[in-house]
Amino acid sequence: MSNIVAIVGRPNVGKSTLFNRLIGSRKAIVNETAGVTRDRNYGKADWNGKEFSVIDTGGYSFNSEDVFDEEIRKQVMLAIDEADAILFVLDVQHGLTDLDEAVARILRRTTKKVYLVANKADNSDLIFAANEFYSVGIGDVVYPISSVNGSGTGDLLDAVVGDFEEKPEEEDNELPRLAFVGRPNVGKSSTVNALIGIERNIVTDVAGTTRDSIHTRFQKFGHDFMMVDTAGVRKKPKVNEDLEFYSVMRSIRTIETADVCVLILDATRGVEAQDLSIFDLIIKNRKGVVIMVNKWDLIEKETNTMKEFEQEIRNKIAPFNDVPIIFTSALSKQRLLNVLESALEVYENRVRKIQTSELNKVMQDAIAAFTPPSVKGKFIKIKYVTQLPTLAPTFAFYCNLPQYIKDPYKRYLENQIRKNWTFTGVPIQIFMRKK
Ligand code: GDP
Ligand code: GDP
Repeated sequence: MSNIVAIVGRPNVGKSTLFNRLIGSRKAIVNETAGVTRDRNYGKADWNGKEFSVIDTGGYSFNSEDVFDEEIRKQVMLAIDEADAILFVLDVQHGLTDLDEAVARILRRTTKKVYLVANKADNSDLIFAANEFYSVGIGDVVYPISSVNGSGTGDLLDAVVGDFEEKPEEEDNELPRLAFVGRPNVGKSSTVNALIGIERNIVTDVAGTTRDSIHTRFQKFGHDFMMVDTAGVRKKPKVNEDLEFYSVMRSIRTIETADVCVLILDATRGVEAQDLSIFDLIIKNRKGVVIMVNKWDLIEKETNTMKEFEQEIRNKIAPFNDVPIIFTSALSKQRLLNVLESALEVYENRVRKIQTSELNKVMQDAIAAFTPPSVKGKFIKIKYVTQLPTLAPTFAFYCNLPQYIKDPYKRYLENQIRKNWTFTGVPIQIFMRKK
């Protein structure tokens, strides 16, 4: 599980520009996982070999004109709850505003690490002007940076990464870790409670434990695994918190902790943008996924209702739609065990390792049947392929001109892998390497 860094501040200070710069170096890699196009507010970054997650809180506003103080205030509070470190961004060209002060007041009360970032310090005069922000009274240091040209970001990142607490790697000989995630009210706690067999009132919300993830060992019906439950499941959102930002923020830590995530949808609401954002989070973290369409008992059914619903989901999550989809009722416990079985199969798929010899035997035929298109008269020859010893399935194809192999061909290779071996529910990474 990586550290979580949240970028906060009023609109227009340059949060999303900074976000893009932080995850910039990773973009290429992120894009190689299938179907990552929608969510631009969450990404993985690394600095000096330390990986972390970055959230651009501003990215979740509907549009910056509409942002009102209250909304920003809530986002900052949630960032404090969920993140390990907070980048508080100010605009040195614009100076301090009332809204900046309001954000600062909230941030002064937290014990989390807050870094004061004086953005748009594009030249030495502006870097000097950043000293004005010492008056804000947060932290000991003001970090003048320019998100546009990148200056100063190195010092900032040195500090942020240097302060990370070492997070213990989850024990690897452990049981599979499953998590139930989804928007508020889709039925997460009903599902978990039905499976564990306890009543909701036993699941208490203890103050001060919002960051802890609770692992419940599940040993029933011949299954043995850990159910990962973080604040996302236990903590009931307050009124009006049914916003994309909240469900997404609250899912991050849970998703990062799990091996396989069961994404619960509410059948009465169909697939909405928030569901897709959570789906993308799962994929970006290269976790296994099962989609559970809950409250199926409330749907009036005709002959093809389920088929059509399923197809609609597959269209929306494309191109990565080799995913189990199961229709359930947590209320009547219908098909909840199928969800568990499916999630454990996905777990097996995720840890599957294909022998290099077997892989090459099959894939060389696939490559011969459809060779990579030549570029500028140059022939591209893929020599061999091997599965890397990574946690999530990753395949490296060695070839003469790796830079010329584009996404459609990688997609072809991925589909061939999926056709020949079972990787249902698991994102696959394809790398091209020079040989
Ligand atoms: P957000 O609303 O806080 O996410 O702000 P944006 O990232 O959308 O940036 C708002 C405006 O400030 C855009 O026009 C950016 O190009 C500009 N901007 C962002 N960072 C810098 C910077 O370091 N220097 C300058 N000169 N402009 C910047
Ligand atoms: P959470 O916010 O995702 O944890 O959702 P809850 O488990 O608290 O469920 C929200 C509401 O939906 C509650 O009133 C549940 O009783 C109801 N609910 C959950 N699952 C089902 C289901 O399968 N069918 C029906 N009809 N209601 C459900």
